[in-house]
Amino acid sequence: MEKEFDSMKIYDTPQKNKVDFEPYNEGRVNMYSCGPTVYNTVHVGNLRSLVNFDVVGRSLRYLGYDVKRVVNFTDVGHMSSDADFGEDKIERQAERENLKASDIADKYIHHVVESFRKINVLNPDGSPIRENIDVKNISKSEWAELGWARATDYIPEMIELISLIEGNGHTYETDQALYFDISTFPEYFEFSGQKLEEKQVAVREDVKEDPNKRHPADFVLWMKRYGKYKNHMMHWNSPWGDGFPGWHIECSAMSWKLLGEQIDIHTGGSDLISLHHPNEIAQNMGAFGHHVVKYWLHNEFVFTSSGEKLSKSKSNALSLKEVEELDINLMALRWYYLSSSYRAPMRFSIESLKSSEKVYLSVVNRLKQLYNQKEGELSQEYLKHFKESISDNFNTPRILALLNKLVKSDLKPEDIVATAFEFDRVLGLDLKKAVLQKIENGDEVHSSEIKEEDIKRIIEEREKARKQKNWKESDELREELFKRGYRVSDREDGQYISKVH
Ligand SMILES: [Zn+2]
Repeated sequence: MEKEFDSMKIYDTPQKNKVDFEPYNEGRVNMYSCGPTVYNTVHVGNLRSLVNFDVVGRSLRYLGYDVKRVVNFTDVGHMSSDADFGEDKIERQAERENLKASDIADKYIHHVVESFRKINVLNPDGSPIRENIDVKNISKSEWAELGWARATDYIPEMIELISLIEGNGHTYETDQALYFDISTFPEYFEFSGQKLEEKQVAVREDVKEDPNKRHPADFVLWMKRYGKYKNHMMHWNSPWGDGFPGWHIECSAMSWKLLGEQIDIHTGGSDLISLHHPNEIAQNMGAFGHHVVKYWLHNEFVFTSSGEKLSKSKSNALSLKEVEELDINLMALRWYYLSSSYRAPMRFSIESLKSSEKVYLSVVNRLKQLYNQKEGELSQEYLKHFKESISDNFNTPRILALLNKLVKSDLKPEDIVATAFEFDRVLGLDLKKAVLQKIENGDEVHSSEIKEEDIKRIIEEREKARKQKNWKESDELREELFKRGYRVSDREDGQYISKVH
């Protein structure tokens, strides 16, 4: 494909503006995304970032860039708040579940990767995620091939990086920790545009925890197994004693080892603007004496209708499982995310998700009607607008609007279908699969569309039996449905029903 690198614009957080995208090396993009802390199940709120930046990766590849991308799993050292002296999120969960910290990490890495697969998030290298990967038996290099990185696999690299920072005179040590000394990095407050007084209370409170910490904004590079962390489960030897790394060092270390000293795009949630990312910049400057990251992209969050951020701790967020239980197509969730710019805060309600599903299914149905197995040609006009929309800071709402317009256009049916499937290389909505499935299944409808009360009741009973793995009852209910003139087939997203002719 012809490369169209000239006109790409992206929004860079520090510059507070859309700017021309000019990577370090023309045609190549190194991209690092701060990934999930793996201690809990995913929900509608925290899946957004993954989908948003999956589309960014897909878009850059679609435009012809040679993309190398890494996403990490934080499986050590992320405290319950942004402060250095909180409770380790993973160890806290390990205590709750009475498991080893490493088992908690394995368990939730498996969970998050499966969840990403279900909503069509690709591996960072652009390949599809395999089903049910065996997290316990996948090596560091196998993860790295796919573009994933587990923090605990990179402890020696973190120690190496901290040693560089120390060698350049940017650290000091107390009884409790090795700190980054921000007085050696005067631009520190520039990135977040914040003053020290505006930093989180939690960060200022840390001074009370360690009286020898010199400046409230200094942050931990290495935490010693000392004081409140005397019994920390995960710990390693280091030049600063037995302990574990601070949260911020992992991203600098893994991005350095896997992508080098020139990273074009670094992404994360907007909550990382004030602390995690300035700390990464400080670490990079401290180790290498120059900036590493060229552009910083941040996604916004999902809020409730009353403006509360969706979070597990507030129990106001629907889990992916709950979305499935509501019989909502997961591609509708993906559509929902893409219907806003990644930079815009979103309001979530089940109704908004259902209306996304309605639009998504109407597009699929329209494509099904148009699908005639003829080889279509891409509409150059639509393709041009499509590429312009991608190149305008990954403008997914505009692409969805364009897709809606396309399926209603009077172009040749096969050209509409071909062009829509082309868009889907970036959108990842499984349009082709959904269309072919609809054709294959003839007049089958999803069980949620059945109106007859008595049939609906049997279907629900059967759903219950299947959940309890009561196969005998489930088979009996299948028979019952058949006697009443309905055939049922079981698929990943539930039961599908057709009339027996
Ligand atoms: Zn990070």
